[in-house]
Amino acid sequence: MIAADLETAIDGLRDLIGSAQRIVPFTGAGISTECGIPDFRSPGGVWTKNRPIPFDEYLASEEARREAWRRRFNIEATFAQAKPGRGHLALASLYRAGQVPALVTQNIDNLHQASGVAPQDVVELHGNTTYAACLDCGQRYELEPIRARFESNDEELPDCDCGGIIKTATISFGQSMPGDAMRRAQQLATECDLLLAVGSSLVVWPAAGIPLMAKRNGARLVIINREPTEFDEFADLVVRNDIGDALAPFIRH
Ligand code: NAD
Ligand code: ZN
Repeated sequence: MIAADLETAIDGLRDLIGSAQRIVPFTGAGISTECGIPDFRSPGGVWTKNRPIPFDEYLASEEARREAWRRRFNIEATFAQAKPGRGHLALASLYRAGQVPALVTQNIDNLHQASGVAPQDVVELHGNTTYAACLDCGQRYELEPIRARFESNDEELPDCDCGGIIKTATISFGQSMPGDAMRRAQQLATECDLLLAVGSSLVVWPAAGIPLMAKRNGARLVIINREPTEFDEFADLVVRNDIGDALAPFIRH
């Protein structure tokens, strides 16, 4: 059912959330647009400006790595200023109330953690852009020292003591998915009784399979997204209103 207006949407959400024991949110870039971070596919989104750099190019070419770091440092101000939005705060409230065991996210912006969800309860399918890691040994690196050397030393690329290549801790196109996170997301999807898909176009696979898996295992499915998605027909409730507006009534301080 597609909610006719915001009021109907909020009533429907209240019923479904109120009767659920184990809610798993599955979030995408749309939950963070009100925080000033553009999504990928809306007009003016990141992709309309920059072609993504595939993983094999990042590995093969120093120039691709320089370009990736240039882009990353260019958007640092946007990420650094972003604070959790109403959607993040509402989901954090459900988490604190014990209704949400963990959240699954495609986002890389760290805003669920910033909203008070324990890092171990944020299952990141596409990694995290607020720090970097060595692709060989996994050693974590903070961005600020990398930036300082990049900017003062003629775009010097970072490398690890082990000789490995360093990259932001995100999953690029062509890079394999983090196995542990995928397994945990699948487990959460099969064990929940309500899956809330929030702000995702649901076109990036295999992540998009998670909401569907929950539905197949008997959970109710809610899709909150401004634009239609391919899975709307399987949803128990489709909300096409603004995410912040739809979830604000669920914020508890
Ligand atoms: P997407 O850009 O494909 O889809 C976002 C969806 O959210 C769109 O369908 C849009 O209509 C909807 N939306 C945007 N703002 C909304 C609002 N205020 N209210 C209601 N709906 C709104 O995003 P995706 O499905 O997450 O896939 C993109 C990939 O890009 C993800 O894998 C993620 O890793 C990455 N990404 C992450 C961020 C971030 O971390 N914030 C930002 C951009 C891209
Ligand atoms: Zn290393």
